[in-house]
Amino acid sequence: PVRVRFCPSPTGNPHVGLIRTALFNWAFARRNGGTMIFRIEDTDAARDSEESYEALLDAMRWLGLTWDEGPEVGGPHEPYRQSQRMEIYADVARRLQDAGHAYRCYCSANELAERREAARAAGRPSGYDGTCRDLSAERIAAHEAEGRTPIVRFRMPDEPITFTDLVRGELTFTPENVPDYGIVRATGAPLYTLVNPVDDALMGVTHVLRGEDLLSSTPRQIALYRALADIGVTDGAMPRFGHLPYVMGEGNKKLSKRDPQASLNLYRERGFLPAGLLNYLSLLGWSIAEDRDIFSLEEMVAAFDIADVNANPARFDLKKCEAINAVHLREMSTEDFLAACEPWLRAPRAPWKPEAFDEAAFAALAPLARTRLTVLSEITDNVDFLFLDEPVRDEASWQKAMKPGAEALLRTARERLAAAEWNTEALKAAVLAAGEEHGLKLGKAQAPVRVAVTGRTVGLPLFESLEVLGRERTLERVDAALE
Ligand code: GLU
Repeated sequence: PVRVRFCPSPTGNPHVGLIRTALFNWAFARRNGGTMIFRIEDTDAARDSEESYEALLDAMRWLGLTWDEGPEVGGPHEPYRQSQRMEIYADVARRLQDAGHAYRCYCSANELAERREAARAAGRPSGYDGTCRDLSAERIAAHEAEGRTPIVRFRMPDEPITFTDLVRGELTFTPENVPDYGIVRATGAPLYTLVNPVDDALMGVTHVLRGEDLLSSTPRQIALYRALADIGVTDGAMPRFGHLPYVMGEGNKKLSKRDPQASLNLYRERGFLPAGLLNYLSLLGWSIAEDRDIFSLEEMVAAFDIADVNANPARFDLKKCEAINAVHLREMSTEDFLAACEPWLRAPRAPWKPEAFDEAAFAALAPLARTRLTVLSEITDNVDFLFLDEPVRDEASWQKAMKPGAEALLRTARERLAAAEWNTEALKAAVLAAGEEHGLKLGKAQAPVRVAVTGRTVGLPLFESLEVLGRERTLERVDAALE
């Protein structure tokens, strides 16, 4: 059975690259009737935060990326927070040393840096040079007497490591390129290099799907896995690895966590739908079919195969992301759309007084509004004229629409509107007739009316808007504009 894991470190805010990784793991698990493990890699007390942990869980819930084992749901391999598994890592580190798969390394940071420089200058590989690989008992005693505190270093095998990446095919790493590496700090704190593969092994992970930035750690982890089998921590099972392509941002540079465009919160605050955002993120390295961009999460799951992931870097295209979201907004049921708008119509986001909100008025115009939205946050500007005591006053719109002659037109329109029956057709006829009197086409004639009533030159279809706003408030606003 397939067992995959999503195992972020709780540092900072979730970003889109991380969510793409979560999504591909989740889809792979769901497609194959497997298990999604959610593990928190919080072994770096200096950088990890509880706030970030909460943000990760919250993000996954918002997106609907459910997990079968992990925080809050539990599972057979509890705990799922690495900070609570320290004895396990200490025990494994000790056994690896006892069996000779790891050793104490006493080289100081300065010594390492000097030798690295010298190796570079001489054109030799600059990774760890093996100084402490086979220290005699006397050397060890001497180092200890000097008060040096060792790190624990993993002994890489002397032969190349080959594996078949699920995305990239067969890859080989030669020993010069994968030197011995630290697994426990001098403080005794275990490192990612140890805890991540140890937990993957203990939790029975079958497929490791993660970003390309971690490709260089894979030969190390394979060697560690073999050592874990040797010391009896596992029965020799080895996960398959698949490395997802880089995501490139502006200027074809790798999208970094710190890039504002990378922050998941930004998308959430702007009112992307989980379905729209996930649809777009799934296209970063994968496609459902040629010439097809829009699909549901269910359709993605049904079609997802890690073998179809493309190794080439994917480009993050905000415009496309928005366009896809807009389609999802249009395709959802009216009921779901109204519910999705809700957070933007109430405090603290909405700019109007809570009691001014009118459900029925909103529902009447919502279908017209939604075809104009790319993200939900745009809903407020579209309907605020209904709920604010006075419409916003957009100065540029005002300048543009209230040209000489506008006042005269507005007076005529006011008379006609006051006499009209209050429905879309009649209101349109009224403004059309007012325009004719002043030699203006409908487009020109309705601009001052729109600005008087909504504060802006652009907005929802005007006559439907007036109908919903009502006679009294419409006329009041036209009067206010004429004062
Ligand atoms: N905690 C690691 C990270 O967030 C996990 C990497 C992995 O998937 O192996 O980068």
